[in-house]
Amino acid sequence: MFNSQSQIIFKLKAIALRLLLVFLLGFTINRDHLCSNHPFATPTLYPPRTIPSNERLSITKIRFDGHLTFDNIEHVAKDFGNRYNLMPLAVLHPKSVSDISYIIKHVFDSGLNSELTVAARGHGHSLQGQAQAYKGVVINMETLKVPRMSFRTGKRPFVDVSAGELWINILHESLKHGLTPKSWTDYLHLTVGGTLSNAGISGQAFKHGPQIDNVYRLQVVTGRGDVVTCSDEQNTDLFNAVKWIRALYSDFSTFLNDQEQLISSENSFDYVEGFVVINRTGLLNNWRSSFNPKDPVQANQFMSEGKILFCLEVAKYFRPEEADHINQDIDNMLSELNYIRSTLFLSEVSYIDFLDRVHVSEVKLREKGLWEVPHPWLNILVPRRSIHEFAQEVFGNIVKDTSNGPVLIYPVNQSRYLVLG
Ligand SMILES: Cc1cc2nc3c(=O)[nH]c(=O)nc-3n(C[C@H](O)[C@H](O)[C@H](O)COP(=O)(O)OP(=O)(O)OC[C@H]3O[C@@H](n4cnc5c(N)ncnc54)[C@H](O)[C@@H]3O)c2cc1C
Repeated sequence: MFNSQSQIIFKLKAIALRLLLVFLLGFTINRDHLCSNHPFATPTLYPPRTIPSNERLSITKIRFDGHLTFDNIEHVAKDFGNRYNLMPLAVLHPKSVSDISYIIKHVFDSGLNSELTVAARGHGHSLQGQAQAYKGVVINMETLKVPRMSFRTGKRPFVDVSAGELWINILHESLKHGLTPKSWTDYLHLTVGGTLSNAGISGQAFKHGPQIDNVYRLQVVTGRGDVVTCSDEQNTDLFNAVKWIRALYSDFSTFLNDQEQLISSENSFDYVEGFVVINRTGLLNNWRSSFNPKDPVQANQFMSEGKILFCLEVAKYFRPEEADHINQDIDNMLSELNYIRSTLFLSEVSYIDFLDRVHVSEVKLREKGLWEVPHPWLNILVPRRSIHEFAQEVFGNIVKDTSNGPVLIYPVNQSRYLVLG
């Protein structure tokens, strides 16, 4: 058995995936809880009848190529982890990419006050409710059969599949063409979208990288419901990503030294900023909606005790083919820094979402009526020789517990500024 299998893989041409419909991109854009598949959800079975009837009504008005079901949907409130049973409002069985786009657009347009959430479900073999949508809409990706599985042979062979396709089906079909994907998971009764969502790693990854690295092209439905194709050449900002990191310091000099070290070194992060944290209890909890603590246990135990803290914020851009070593590079860079170890928070977002990040705050502030308030604003370039004195005076004496609004601090290299004279 082993011999014949390895012979097939060896003899046949390996194929890469070109594909597919991964959506949910940028879901954190404006709605922290737009996608409900976070691990902190309460494991209760919530009866659908308590869902506001207007939300049910609003989705029934959408004209789908596929259809919605409201009854006998308990099975999508289960997953392989078998610890969370989050009862949705409905299941969408999409027949077209537009169906997915319509529902995402609808949820996005429902605004921050709506509790309507949405989650893609492949084969439901993940854990902790990842593919569940509490009181929301679960999209049954397995019913989406477009594009139909199709193969391209030649120099750069690939298969074009729907994100809801099972890997076991791709294996059987590709062998008929004398081809095979290069990178696998151990178990094949999982969908393409499901495994790409966590990279897809098995014994072949050492040689070919995880499955996600073998994708030529993705069709994506963004968090706003737009349908976009991305690849190495097309909409690369969607294909590429940014590792976004925050860590806290209690001592200004240590914070500043680390910032200076980062902007002086050749192979550093692509973005270095920082901000002052004043009187923010529950700060780390707030971050959890968009950042993951590196060490959740330690992060839970961290207490700011009302002190002024300094937050280093850094980001590293990377392309899919760099995904393998980017984490190692980041670990190396972080190991040289002196932040409070329990306060390291990480996130991965698209390039657009990263650059457009302030808009997220704008939307939240507008919802609360806080965007239109008076805005005193001051930018100061402080020379290096005076920064410690400045910090002592400002953060030691002037800034009070009651101070509000962002205070950003970040170093710039004078040599990079054009001096006119
Ligand atoms: C027995 C077993 C063996 C496994 N072996 C391996 C292994 O060897 N290597 C490995 O890497 N993993 C392995 N896994 C983990 C598995 O790859 C993941 O749990 C995977 O997410 C499950 O795929 P699924 O189709 O069931 O996805 P689901 O559980 O349905 O979804 C998983 C996540 O992906 C999202 N998602 C699903 N489809 C899409 C889509 N089209 N677009 C955007 N998001 C989507 C869901 O919202 C959810 O967050 C194994 C799991 C099991 C149960």
